[in-house]
Amino acid sequence: MEFSQGLISAAYIVAALLFIFSLAGLSKQETAETGNWYGITGMAIALIATIADPRVDNVLVIVIAMSVGAFIGLHLAKKVEMTQMPELVAILHSFVGLAAVLVGFNSYFEMEHSLPLTFTETQQMATNIHLVEVFLGVFIGSITFTGSIVAFAKLRGVINSSALMLPHRHKLNLAAGIVAVILLINFVQSGGSDSALYLMTLIALVFGWHLVASIGGADMPVVVSMLNSYSGWAAAAAGFMLNNDLLIVTGALVGSSGAILSYIMCKAMNRSFISVIAGGFGTDVVVNNDTDYGDHIEINADAVADMLCAAKTVIITPGYGMAVAQAQYPVYEMSQALKDKGIDVRFAIHPVAGRLPGHMNVLLAEARVPYDIVLGMDEINDDFPKTDVVLVIGANDTVNPAAAEDPTSPIAGMPVLEVWNAKQVIVFKRSMNTGYAGVQNPLFFKDNTQMLFGDAKDSVEQIFKAL
Ligand code: NDP
Repeated sequence: MEFSQGLISAAYIVAALLFIFSLAGLSKQETAETGNWYGITGMAIALIATIADPRVDNVLVIVIAMSVGAFIGLHLAKKVEMTQMPELVAILHSFVGLAAVLVGFNSYFEMEHSLPLTFTETQQMATNIHLVEVFLGVFIGSITFTGSIVAFAKLRGVINSSALMLPHRHKLNLAAGIVAVILLINFVQSGGSDSALYLMTLIALVFGWHLVASIGGADMPVVVSMLNSYSGWAAAAAGFMLNNDLLIVTGALVGSSGAILSYIMCKAMNRSFISVIAGGFGTDVVVNNDTDYGDHIEINADAVADMLCAAKTVIITPGYGMAVAQAQYPVYEMSQALKDKGIDVRFAIHPVAGRLPGHMNVLLAEARVPYDIVLGMDEINDDFPKTDVVLVIGANDTVNPAAAEDPTSPIAGMPVLEVWNAKQVIVFKRSMNTGYAGVQNPLFFKDNTQMLFGDAKDSVEQIFKAL
């Protein structure tokens, strides 16, 4: 089946519109599922139209490649735990980067073979533009590729999540940027130089690795969304090289939505957007966990149940530990039991709680927690002083007062959920270990805080039974 060029263009426009509807849908929990369907339909149309393009003469190869990809993708999607999603997203970004690099090299080598002997001025201009596309595509793709691999390794815990601090690291980054610009000029002026392309690829690969390696654990959310944005721009660059309008539009949508998300994350963490793009921001502080905060107080599940029964207002702040324990279902049941007793229960979500933007919202939606009692940090932070009990379920960095009180802390300046202002705080965790940022949490030692040790799911189930 072959489509005419007009029909393909029409299909691409429909697919692009569906992608925009998809993004709009995904921006609200109530419409997220519909948004997903728009995206799936758009992608199906895009795939059919691309394969049916008369210029495609190796349909069989594409179908075989897609079948292998679909098999691996389905297997991974079925197997992956919710807590592994961020790693999966990071590694998928690396594939987009690698694809852009391969498309760039392919496009460059194909172009070399088809150069006419004498150039008109227009041809010269078109060649130069194409060379810039190749260079930028490979550059962004390479950074995305290695950067995403490092992000994957950090999120998986294969490598230490703390910041790598090479001497003169900012100067190294700047030097890499300057050399890349010089190589770009040389590449275009020479009508395409293999050595400039190879050298730049090498520099960009190292640059991408260094950019992410030099960012500390607490700032990883911004890195993930930034790599998301980079992968979009890499795809857009591939679209330019392949002359595929839909890939350009899709890449630009991913690139700009990723950039907007990075901006939102930066605001949530009180970081400068520009310094994130430059890499290695806010990591000049040294983690100091030697401070003696005094003793912590322990509590058991029955006592927490009694405390909850006596409360009028309760706020639950979930974090990464809730995802690890898969405690969202018993948490929902517990919240319903409290509601049935006439207690006002709400959920407070920090923008970077968990390991993925919107991680907690997804988990709570999965457990059917009504959206109207799930509030963002800005909406609920002022309500803590009026709250009787706060249940901190597997959250740590996102409720750490050191962010507000200790200017030397690696998370200094990051807005956090001010749970310590409530009358009573119960922290659910398994030990006194630190959170992802590796910083001790003074909340655990405050007079109105009590620690409920154990797996969050078991603890919540025990409280539910006691209730
Ligand atoms: P943290 O990662 O700071 O802390 C999670 C806590 O959960 C740990 O202290 C751990 O303590 C506890 N925990 C782990 N497993 C269990 C379990 N089974 N039962 C009970 N408790 C458990 O969580 P937050 O959500 O507060 O903060 C997120 C952090 O991740 C931030 O630093 C953020 O910057 C970073 N990040 C966020 C991303 C995002 O996009 N949202 C992406 C990448 C990083 P213990 O071991 O003692 O049980």
